[in-house]
Amino acid sequence: MSKFFSEKYKGLTPYTPGEQPKERKFIKLNTNESPYPPSKKAIEAAAEAAGCLQLYSDPEAKLLHEKIAELCGVTPDCVLATNGSDEILNFAFMAFCDDEHLAIFPDITYGFYSVFAELNRVPYKTVPLSDDFTINIEDYFNAGGTVFIANPNAPTGICLSLDEIEKIVATNQDNVVVIDEAYIDFGGESAVGLTKRYKNLLVTQTFSKSRSMAGARLGFGVACPELIRDLNTIKYSTNPYNVNSMTMAAGVGVLCDEEYTRSNCASVIANREYAMAELKALGFEMTNSKANFIFAKHPCIDGGEIYLALREKGILVRHFTGERISQYNRITVGSREQMQALISAIKEILEEKK
Ligand code: PMP
Repeated sequence: MSKFFSEKYKGLTPYTPGEQPKERKFIKLNTNESPYPPSKKAIEAAAEAAGCLQLYSDPEAKLLHEKIAELCGVTPDCVLATNGSDEILNFAFMAFCDDEHLAIFPDITYGFYSVFAELNRVPYKTVPLSDDFTINIEDYFNAGGTVFIANPNAPTGICLSLDEIEKIVATNQDNVVVIDEAYIDFGGESAVGLTKRYKNLLVTQTFSKSRSMAGARLGFGVACPELIRDLNTIKYSTNPYNVNSMTMAAGVGVLCDEEYTRSNCASVIANREYAMAELKALGFEMTNSKANFIFAKHPCIDGGEIYLALREKGILVRHFTGERISQYNRITVGSREQMQALISAIKEILEEKK
């Protein structure tokens, strides 16, 4: 730390992203990326946009907002595109949390929530998940603060039903409820439609997972126009050109190729079910994941040991050290071949352990 670093941030522990190793070719199942390439329409549109990089990107992201609005069945003034969904989540902490509106989220969830709270110096409260890692929705009724729920949750993959989400939103008319749907396209039911009826609901989604564009950094929020205006105040006070023009074009491109997205999601779901059945047969215990990852532990081998043994065999998964989840690994669902390689490697590890 330099002597110049602001007092404000000295205590900040930044988010630790999953490894992106360059030195060795791994089967990468650690950051929930898509195993499939981006849509050709996205690639072509980005390449064309590259020819105009002397110009700033459209700060209003008009075309992209129109396409997202069409996808979500809302009007464009209900949409805000951002630099990954991390950015809109940060905007939400900036816009809707302060000393009177503390942030509230589960104790086991996306690690960035507590980082954003600390970065923005807003108080936060964590609510313990049940022993089986499910969310008890009543814990969030009349929450008395801004609620952040990842649905499906991460790293558990467990999903709340639309009914349950609505109950949380309906009992918090005086609080903003943020539903982070980064993984919604792999089996959950989106709450975007509820934004037309609830003025306290912000739903966020990303192009990083189901749309194979993690490297482009594109996310968005859907809410009533008043909430979107607040978020725009933050956006125009930080970076009006938050989405670059290649990414914006790629986003429009992939939204013109919904069939490709749907077919990739169906493959990921099929590969998840395949891998879960195989892992179950090998004795693993897993949550009921509706995301593009599996959250698994084995009764006989330590979670950290499995992580290291897989790494040794060229397969990267994500191991967390948090107290309640240290026996688990979060395994991204990849292609069928990657899942077969994972299962073979795990069989070898179990064999070596005998
Ligand atoms: N929410 C959750 C629950 C996530 O796991 C992630 C991905 N790490 C994000 C949001 C952010 O994704 P992105 O910024 O790539 O849109």
